[in-house]
Amino acid sequence: MNLDLAVLDAFRGLTGGDPEGIWRAPGRINLIGEHTDYNDGFVLPFALPQAAYLAASRRDDNRIRIVSVDLGERFETDLADLAPNHDGWHAYLAGVFWALREAGHDVGGADLALASDVPIGAGLSSSAAIECVLVEALNDLYDLGIDPMARAVLARRTENGYVGAPTGLMDQAASMLCTAGHALFLDCRSLSVDQVPLDPGAHGRAILVVDTGTRHSHAGGEYATRRADCEQAARELGVPALRDVAADGLDERLAGLSDERLVRRARHVITENDRVLQACAALRRDDFAALGELMTASHASMRGDYEITEESVDLTVQTALDAGATGARMTGGGFGGCVLVLAPVESLGAITAAVTTAFVDSGRSAPATFVARPSAGAGRLN
Ligand code: ADP
Ligand code: MG
Repeated sequence: MNLDLAVLDAFRGLTGGDPEGIWRAPGRINLIGEHTDYNDGFVLPFALPQAAYLAASRRDDNRIRIVSVDLGERFETDLADLAPNHDGWHAYLAGVFWALREAGHDVGGADLALASDVPIGAGLSSSAAIECVLVEALNDLYDLGIDPMARAVLARRTENGYVGAPTGLMDQAASMLCTAGHALFLDCRSLSVDQVPLDPGAHGRAILVVDTGTRHSHAGGEYATRRADCEQAARELGVPALRDVAADGLDERLAGLSDERLVRRARHVITENDRVLQACAALRRDDFAALGELMTASHASMRGDYEITEESVDLTVQTALDAGATGARMTGGGFGGCVLVLAPVESLGAITAAVTTAFVDSGRSAPATFVARPSAGAGRLN
């Protein structure tokens, strides 16, 4: 069943009536620009076809009632009872009411039915999708007039302030602001954005997502040490953030750092920022060969300098390249997760088969794969 019909059905089950509207907000994947966000740098995500759908109506009391179609669960609370650090799936939704009210927006209760086909915990940001779809719905229903970037900031505030997850703005900005056939360039310092054409299908190419299925339990700790390394490198270089270091003449600039590890960490971030800018330029001239090279270089930098890859993502990247991919890289925080493969459409079958064989031959389960078409950001369906 289509998810818009699924949420309509669930809404009727919850309330006995029809919703005022149905909204959609997508998951996202980052084309290039990894571990650059907390260095005030650049990222280039695009929205996935997979999305969260929400049927919603206002209530004239202060109740919030939510049904999750996917989990088969209901949750009910009162606006007066909202407080940060709530556990559970409903915190991502209840927290939106909290974030809006904390920012001074006059929102009341609501009846909500949610369904999503963004895989949970695969690094495709199922969390931002459900936050953004609700911010979008409440902005419309309560006529709040919040501009799109401010809506993304409120969705992030939900995740940071209410759920208690210290994430950057990329996920919510992508889910809220992306447009079909484009990637979203985001400057994480100024929060300026730019729509960059990304329509591989129009050029005989496709972007294949390979979910390796690997999830690393140490990822949180590794993330913290990478962040600390970057902060130390910036301090030693006398700049506010690694974003402020130019990529040309880099070896000379980094020679003074106190530790060889810091040199490699800084080199990844600085060259990765440069690759994002180069990727935007390549896309603006429809140069998919150059984009592929930048993706593969990004992976090599994550592997050698930032040391955040692991065997299953390295195997995927190498196998895809050997089978005819134009470029490939791990995407997301690291230590597993998904790989993005840019390839000519006619090579997709061979690449998928080769990666599957490589996984099975090395004792792994066959990975899930799908073609990611750059899709529209959050909006109202009807
Ligand atoms: P991701 O990388 O997918 O964003 P997170 O851990 O950040 O992973 O967020 C996943 C959480 O978001 C889930 O554990 C659940 O609490 C919530 N969530 C995502 N999708 C749904 C859904 N369809 N229904 C209910 N809760 C969801
Ligand atoms: Mg998330």
